[in-house]
Amino acid sequence: MNAINHPNLGNDLPVIVIGAGPVGLAAAAHLLARGIGVKLLEAGPDVGSHVRDWGHIRLFSPWSYNIDAASRALLLKTGWQAPRRSQHPTGAELYTQYLKPLAETPEIASVVEYDARVIAVSRLGFDKMKSSGRDLAPFTILVRKPDGAERIELARAVIDCSGTWSQHNPIGTNGLPVPGEIAARDRIAYGTPDVLTDVRYANQRILVTGAGHSAANVLLDLVALRQRAPQTEIIWAVRGASLARLFGGGANDKLEARGALGRSLENMVAGGQITVHMQSSIAHIETGEPLTVTLRRQHLDPMVIEVDRIIVATGQRPDLTMLREVRLDLDPATESPRILAPMVDPNVHSCGTVRPHGHRELAQPDAGFYIAGIKSYGRAPTFLLATGYEQVRSIAAAIAGDLAAADDIQLELPETGVCSTNLPVETSSCSSSSCSTQSESPAVQVVSGCGTSKAKQTTTQGCC
Ligand SMILES: Cc1cc2nc3c(=O)[nH]c(=O)nc-3n(C[C@H](O)[C@H](O)[C@H](O)COP(=O)(O)OP(=O)(O)OC[C@H]3O[C@@H](n4cnc5c(N)ncnc54)[C@H](O)[C@@H]3O)c2cc1C
Repeated sequence: MNAINHPNLGNDLPVIVIGAGPVGLAAAAHLLARGIGVKLLEAGPDVGSHVRDWGHIRLFSPWSYNIDAASRALLLKTGWQAPRRSQHPTGAELYTQYLKPLAETPEIASVVEYDARVIAVSRLGFDKMKSSGRDLAPFTILVRKPDGAERIELARAVIDCSGTWSQHNPIGTNGLPVPGEIAARDRIAYGTPDVLTDVRYANQRILVTGAGHSAANVLLDLVALRQRAPQTEIIWAVRGASLARLFGGGANDKLEARGALGRSLENMVAGGQITVHMQSSIAHIETGEPLTVTLRRQHLDPMVIEVDRIIVATGQRPDLTMLREVRLDLDPATESPRILAPMVDPNVHSCGTVRPHGHRELAQPDAGFYIAGIKSYGRAPTFLLATGYEQVRSIAAAIAGDLAAADDIQLELPETGVCSTNLPVETSSCSSSSCSTQSESPAVQVVSGCGTSKAKQTTTQGCC
């Protein structure tokens, strides 16, 4: 018997799942399938609040990867028609064709509460310092409603699936806002704004920063916008020296659409549709009409450019404030559970393949507390829904005391085709006045302090 099944803990108490995104819903479905009481607390007025925020983006994983098994079982009882396995939904379609119908099944509808924001988690009668008997104390969860009313919920276990989408990284390469960023907030968007429908982007000079799939989606949408708003200027500040990781594994990417996203962007860049500043980061923003942005460039003098709007697609980080009283063991760099960290940390890992993992990697020192879904990756990218579904299947089995099932992790993830071992080797030769960085990345239009150079199969920067 483990602590979370101990009779003194009050097994009549529910398991509380924080967040009704795809993974939180799946957690609820797996717990219900095992006959375990569950409460699903969602901060937003509906399920999938974060997914709906990027509803215009098409997922690169097809439906076959996007539907959880226990959730499917609930849906099939209602006569739900499963979408075609090979199709790629948008975020909006993920919501209308899967998350919303799932939330409306009688089983989930009876356990989900909307407009219920978790403010803090602790253990009944135990602040973080107090140890003796701690594991047998139920969790206490402070919940706030939109009108400010607060209440306490008790739980035998907690699964935090609250995501990271509400905590976008700021612009600074040091993880902080750059000077002027906060003052310019009215012209800065974080994440993946819908530039095709938001009139504020047409015929404007847009600076994009970030080099992940979100940045790729935004840049391709801006190129599409320019078809009908030809004065739109697209400027891309890239911190790194190579775009090979984003351009991706192409045909080697086991998710075809993800490979195609990288290839399309590569073609747009090669065709000069996007002005790229490599090894450049935003250092300062001067508010005014337009915004005056100083780009810090490695080995080159800073460059000052004028833009109308900035889009920051530099990833997200987990909100840990509500977990201040929970005993956590997180990696200091990624802020993901420590055992999981080496598998997802982009400093040491890049293939998009993560060793199958479950309750053991996600459990925290406070017995019965788990972090799952995209929040389990902390600041690391490349989380896939399929990973989250297997995480919560394993956690639900562990809470039920079925350790054989909990440890029988079955997860085969599609590879990106881009690994540390096959990324181009960058060579750099620099002095204080000149710099040249070369890699085998594809053609890139690079603007440096001394003009524009186009290079095929080689990224060459600096020169003067
Ligand atoms: C643009 C984009 C494209 C992506 N494409 C893919 C793809 O193609 N394939 C793929 O597998 N993955 C993809 N992902 C990654 C990942 O699968 C998604 O981010 C997914 O939404 C993660 O699900 P989740 O349930 O872990 O978290 P989320 O979807 O972020 O859900 C978290 C939920 O918790 C709620 N919440 C937050 N704080 C609280 C609180 N304090 N109290 C109560 N509720 C709270 C939120 O309102 C939200 O509903 C993509 C991500 C993004 C951003």
